[in-house]
Amino acid sequence: MISRSEILSTLSQYNESDIKIGTLCSHSSLQIFHGARREGIPSVGIVLKENKPYYESFTNALPEMFLEVQDYKEIMTDNFQKKLISENVIIIPHGSLVEYIGAENLLERFRVPMFGNRLTLYWESDRRRQRRWLKEAGVNSPTIYENPSNIDKPVIVKLHGAKGGRGYFKASNSQEFFTKFNELRMRKLISSLDDIIIEEFIAGVRYYPHFFLSILEEKNLPGLDEGRLELLGIDRRLEVIDEIHRGLPLIIEDYLDYTVTGNVGVVVREKYLVDLLRYAVRIVSSARKLFYPGLIGPFCLETIYNPARGFIVFEVSARIVAGTNLYPDGSPYSTYYYDEPMSMGRRIAKEIRRAVNLNSLHKLVY
Ligand code: AMP
Repeated sequence: MISRSEILSTLSQYNESDIKIGTLCSHSSLQIFHGARREGIPSVGIVLKENKPYYESFTNALPEMFLEVQDYKEIMTDNFQKKLISENVIIIPHGSLVEYIGAENLLERFRVPMFGNRLTLYWESDRRRQRRWLKEAGVNSPTIYENPSNIDKPVIVKLHGAKGGRGYFKASNSQEFFTKFNELRMRKLISSLDDIIIEEFIAGVRYYPHFFLSILEEKNLPGLDEGRLELLGIDRRLEVIDEIHRGLPLIIEDYLDYTVTGNVGVVVREKYLVDLLRYAVRIVSSARKLFYPGLIGPFCLETIYNPARGFIVFEVSARIVAGTNLYPDGSPYSTYYYDEPMSMGRRIAKEIRRAVNLNSLHKLVY
């Protein structure tokens, strides 16, 4: 794994008066470029040649510089990495960057300084490891069944590395589990029990709150070791299964699909904000213990609210999530922290700018 000291040594050669924010043109990049512009930081868009005209057409979210690639694999080449370093680029990782380059490549071979703690990639990329993080945090999370024969209530079965929920299925007992599991095996989508995780199915309403942790600011909530935690927005994902009523009574099967197709904004009952913030503080504290310095910058909790059990966290995304794209001009929550429109993309740029002014960029980068 590339060490933090190696990355910080690269960063120490950066010209801090010419820092640029860089990311792949995909996922939440428009918001990131738009936010950088609002904070007066130049940005670099790594773009597939064929996508460039489309990205150029969003004139308020134009990066100052495009770096074209034919294939995302080029990003890992020595020359490309050198180019990014010579332009003093801080990479903002988002879901597509991790997906296209791969967590392992980023951890082992990507020498360009990235915003946040890249160790989160290691802790997130494996669901069992991630579960340890949730357990350590002491937040409610769904029961995991290691042995399918023990299934005694409805479960959701997830594929590792699934692209937004595709291939997931539900089962209510072990017999149903094995029937569906064998079907997927025949279709060569999985080969063994190691390829899946069996999780208790939680009934309730889903909320995906977006947080930002600033370690440059004063502590603002009880339980934090350091830093200021902000809730900058909440969304809910639009998954195919959400439309299942449209398949009634005939085509239910086609709608039993958790593929994420979009996001809608939500607000939560105000009294529940306290629960969400408490949970986020615990996740921050356990991250700090497990992989110091823990979380830096944006992260999202994937939760289901069940009236009898409260919020149940089934996943953490330790980076900017696509649901933040709903709020380029701020959200119903960012308003309570900022007098100016504050998207997550802009919040990241603001943090980088402040760190440069404080001579503290090294604290935010790995
Ligand atoms: P994930 O890949 O873990 O983000 O899950 C994809 C989708 O599956 C979520 O957005 C939820 O709609 C649904 N889901 C995940 N875990 C559970 C669970 N334990 N109970 C019920 N639904 C879930």
